[in-house]
Amino acid sequence: MNVAGHGLLRPNRFSPTAFRPSRVPFGYIESILPFAEKLLISRIRERAPRRRGIAMGIGDDCAILQIPAGNQTLVTTDFSLEGVHFRREWHPPDAVGHRCLTRGLSDIAAMGGTPLAAFLSLALPQNLRQSWVDQFVKGLLTLADRLKVTLAGGDTAQSPGGVLADIVVVGSVPKGKAIRRSDARPGDGIYVTGTLGGAAAALKLLFSGRKLRTADFPRHFYPTPRIEVGRWLLEKGLVSAMIDLSDGLSTDLGHICEESGVGAEVQAEAVPCAEIGKPVRKVDLQFALHGGDDYELVFTAPRGKRVPSRVAGVDITRIGRITRNKQVILTNPEGTAVKFRPQGWEHFKPRT
Ligand SMILES: [Mg+2]
Repeated sequence: MNVAGHGLLRPNRFSPTAFRPSRVPFGYIESILPFAEKLLISRIRERAPRRRGIAMGIGDDCAILQIPAGNQTLVTTDFSLEGVHFRREWHPPDAVGHRCLTRGLSDIAAMGGTPLAAFLSLALPQNLRQSWVDQFVKGLLTLADRLKVTLAGGDTAQSPGGVLADIVVVGSVPKGKAIRRSDARPGDGIYVTGTLGGAAAALKLLFSGRKLRTADFPRHFYPTPRIEVGRWLLEKGLVSAMIDLSDGLSTDLGHICEESGVGAEVQAEAVPCAEIGKPVRKVDLQFALHGGDDYELVFTAPRGKRVPSRVAGVDITRIGRITRNKQVILTNPEGTAVKFRPQGWEHFKPRT
């Protein structure tokens, strides 16, 4: 199935009349699409409305996007792979769909951009239940509706292994105004949106064998990409550099410092730790410092810019400052300082 997109599997164009058996991407196995995919096609066609900026969506070889005059195009792509980014036994299918789209939208937010259209490529194992696919699409489209993003194309094929999803998001940003990682300067304040560590702390519980109610752990199962905050910060011209927190504060702040050729000093006690579970409790600082998948934003603002404590309903917290020497340092209230080393997000480590 090809959904007005890449044209790799043209016989399976995303139009019921053009629907034919899928070809496994490796070329030598032909098989009939599972029923789940047929349902997926009609469901997406039914539910994906066209919006401003999309001249042509699902149903042709390519989508045609109209980028607003005076804007540049942003494009980002992210995998969501079963066993790497999610597990079917841990994550309900609508949460997998939601998180899949969040990964792309969060990158658009990090540039201060406005998302226009999303493209989904999905490889599904043949034995996958129809209801799983249906719920996956529902989760993805519910978030798309909320943030007014059109699902304008994609592709499906049969997966020889687990569920493999790739999301491409196209967005726009006023020409020359995209917020980069590379423009932090010594003296800038460092800020984060929301609270950190909620997603990683929930993951730790899942690894320990706990069953979690999704409603008690929204930051893990249904993270909100900070599109509105990113756009507001761009419009007000407050920000020098920004990145989204997909890999964890230590890693992602490290990217800003590296790309900008600067260092940073972060005050451990200022880092806002997420609250999770029921009864609600604060996560350990280590999760807030290093845990990934929060999809909050970390940004820098030049000295003298007044950054509000709340933007678009989201708390903004100052956690430190950019320094001239290239070290990234974590200080604590006792006055000691340690290197704030990236302790990267390792997703789901293979288990031996
Ligand atoms: Mg990113």
